[in-house]
Amino acid sequence: MSLSADDHVVVVGAGLAGWTFCEELRRREYRGALTLVGEEEHEPYDRPPLSKQVAEGKWELERTSLVTPERRAATEVTWRLAERAVELNVSGPFVELNSGERLHATRVVVATGVRARQLPWRTPETMTLRRRDDAERLSRALHSLRPSDEVVIVGAGFIGAELATALVRRGLHVRVLEAAPIPLAAQLGPDIARAIAAKASTAGVNLRTGVEIVGISSEGGYSDVLLSDGSEYHARLVVAGVGAEPALEWIAGSGLATAQGILVNEHFEARARIGALGDVARFPWRGEPTRLEHWQIAHDSARTLAAWWVNGEALAPLVPYFWSDQYGQKVQVLGRPHPEARVHVVRGGLDEDRFVGLYERGGLVSAVVGLNQPRALMLSRPLLVEETSMEEAFRLAPWEG
Ligand SMILES: Cc1cc2nc3c(=O)[nH]c(=O)nc-3n(C[C@H](O)[C@H](O)[C@H](O)COP(=O)(O)OP(=O)(O)OC[C@H]3O[C@@H](n4cnc5c(N)ncnc54)[C@H](O)[C@@H]3O)c2cc1C
Repeated sequence: MSLSADDHVVVVGAGLAGWTFCEELRRREYRGALTLVGEEEHEPYDRPPLSKQVAEGKWELERTSLVTPERRAATEVTWRLAERAVELNVSGPFVELNSGERLHATRVVVATGVRARQLPWRTPETMTLRRRDDAERLSRALHSLRPSDEVVIVGAGFIGAELATALVRRGLHVRVLEAAPIPLAAQLGPDIARAIAAKASTAGVNLRTGVEIVGISSEGGYSDVLLSDGSEYHARLVVAGVGAEPALEWIAGSGLATAQGILVNEHFEARARIGALGDVARFPWRGEPTRLEHWQIAHDSARTLAAWWVNGEALAPLVPYFWSDQYGQKVQVLGRPHPEARVHVVRGGLDEDRFVGLYERGGLVSAVVGLNQPRALMLSRPLLVEETSMEEAFRLAPWEG
C-alpha cells in the first residue's frame, strides 16, 4: 500500500541514503510524518571528499554538507540528530533510542551505513577515516606534523590509496603498508589491480605490499609500526584503511541483520513496512544478493524505495557504479568486477595512463572498468543495464562513441 498522510516514517541513519530518501519522499509529495534519526551531531554530509579534497586541504568540511537552506526547506523532517537507535521492533514497528524513548512508526528505514574496521592495536596516534569528526581529527593531526614526520597508512584499498594521494599532494611523507601482494586484487582482479597499483610510485606514494604488521606501540607522541620481517616505521600518525562492517548491532534482535547486511528485494524492502538502504542493503543484482559500499547505490536505493512506497512505482534496476581518485588517476567501475572474471582490454592498455576493460563472467559482461576514461565508461552503461553477451558488446563497442 502506498504511503498516506496518516503514516509516520522513521528513517534511522542520517547519511547519504537516509537523507536522500527523506528528500525523495517529500519531492514525491508524501505529506505524512517523517523522522530522521542520526547518531552524529552533524546534518547529513558527503563522505567521498573526506579522503580527497578535504584530506588534500582544498575544501573546508562545511563544503561536504548535503543540506543547503533550500533543500532543508523543501524537506520537512523531524530531526533527531546526536541520538542513537538501540533497537528495532519490526512488528510494532518502533525504534528505541539510547535515551529510552520509543519512536512509534508505520514504516521504518534502516540506513545506518558501515563502521570503519579498527586495527587490533590502538595508540593515541592511530585513527580511521569514515566520519566528519575523523576528518577533523585528521586535519588537526596534520597541522601538528613536523616536516620530517611520516604518516603511515595501513591498507592500500580505495580509502587508503586516496588518502595517500591527497597527503602526498600536501607535501607530506606517506608510507602505505598493504598486506595483500596486489592491492585491490580481491575487488578488481589481479590484472586491473596491478595496473592501478603501478601508478603509486609516479604519484609519489611509497607503497609496500605483502607485509604483515605484528604490532604498533606508542611513545612520546609517535607510533612504532612493527612488521613481521623486523622492519619498523616511526610514525606521527597512523591511519587505518582496512575495510568496514555494517552498523547493524542495534537491530541484532530483529531477525533482519546478518554479518553480510540486510537482505532486501528489488524495491529495497526487507519486509513489508521495513526498508534498508545504502551500505547496509543486500540487494539482488543479476540474481545474486549483493552489498556494495558505493555512493551511487546509497543514492539510487533511496530513490527506488521512495518511488515504491509513495507511488507504487518500480524504478529500473540500479546499475552498480563507483569511482575512486587515486594516484592521480580516475578509476571508475560499472557493474560487479568479480576478481576471477576474465578481463578484455578494449581501449588503451594496462601499462598506459588510460584504458577500458570489460569483465567477462558466464559469457556476459559483468563489469566495465575505466582508467581516465569517463566518457567511454558512461557510454558503456547499456552493457550492464541489460544482460549483454561479449560478442554483442564487441559488436556494439559503445565505448568508441
Ligand atoms: C572517506 C570515504 C570516501 C569515499 N569515497 C567514495 C568514492 O569515491 N566513491 C564511492 O562510490 N563511494 C565512496 N565512499 C562510500 C560512500 O560514501 C558510501 O557508500 C555512502 O556514504 C553510503 O551511504 P549510507 O547512507 O548508506 O551510509 P553512511 O553515509 O555511512 O550513513 C549512515 C549514517 O548512519 C549513522 N548511524 C549508524 N548507526 C546508527 C544508529 N544506531 N542510530 C543512528 N544513526 C546511526 C552513521 O553515524 C551515519 O551517519 C566513500 C566513503 C568514505 C568513508
